[in-house]
Amino acid sequence: MPEEPVILRGVADLRGQVAAWRKAGETVALVPTMGALHDGHLSLMRLAKGLADRVIASIFVNPAQFGPGEDYERYPRTETEDVAKLATAGIDAAFVPTAREMYPEGFATRVHIDRLGDVLCGAHRPGHFDGMALIVVKLLTSALPDVAIFGEKDYQQLQIIRRFTADLNIPVRILGAPIEREPDGLALSSRNRYLSPEQRRIAVALSLALKSVRDIVKAGGDPSAASATAREQVLKAGFDSVDYIEVRDPASLELVTAPGKPARVFGAARLGTTRLIDNWAVE
Ligand code: AMP
Repeated sequence: MPEEPVILRGVADLRGQVAAWRKAGETVALVPTMGALHDGHLSLMRLAKGLADRVIASIFVNPAQFGPGEDYERYPRTETEDVAKLATAGIDAAFVPTAREMYPEGFATRVHIDRLGDVLCGAHRPGHFDGMALIVVKLLTSALPDVAIFGEKDYQQLQIIRRFTADLNIPVRILGAPIEREPDGLALSSRNRYLSPEQRRIAVALSLALKSVRDIVKAGGDPSAASATAREQVLKAGFDSVDYIEVRDPASLELVTAPGKPARVFGAARLGTTRLIDNWAVE
């Protein structure tokens, strides 16, 4: 039986655990998640294990980053299975707070990131990135790890985290990790659990369409025309609507309208009540 991670429920417990490790001269990595762990999350854990003496995974379905009518209530909560996976992965501690612990009575603070937070998912999920930034600021400043790891699956989120960490002088190294995919190319996501078998067959179309935009732009094609074609492909495959398919600068997230520039292809589309996102780098 692999050793179970220590379960920490309070910010004070988290701080105490990190302080004990620091006293022993050990380095610490943090991997924030919302749980319902899959191999994408576990790839971040493996990376973290190679970077620090101790690894903490946090599991918290953060109410502040869900809008009205989004899937906060139905988001999968699988703590027992998650902790078993963390044990197998050799993770030292799991920080699993309640919403009350993170947002106690009287909580009144917001975090907002201009520009990077206004485009792509920011334009379609008002308040989402403010809520995400709020919890990540709290996690980073509570644990103060040497390094925190985030997936490129949520590439815009990663860029926003890099921005506010620099802006707020949070002394933590932020590391991005590559996207883990199913054999057919679908990006792993906790939300893939919502998909019916029929929807699962359709879902890969988003990844494939974004990849074809990547290929076209890489070969010198027009980003806007390729994005428009991809939108058609995704709808034709059976998606109900497309929030965006766009080619943007990987650092500033500004729209790329001409070939030959640094670029990344981003997409978000809806299949029934499930919203899926994906992105591909144009090397
Ligand atoms: P979540 O639990 O969805 O908030 O994700 C927690 C972390 O895992 C975030 O940094 C995500 O970007 C990352 N992540 C989620 N899915 C994947 C994936 N398929 N590949 C790599 N990282 C991922």
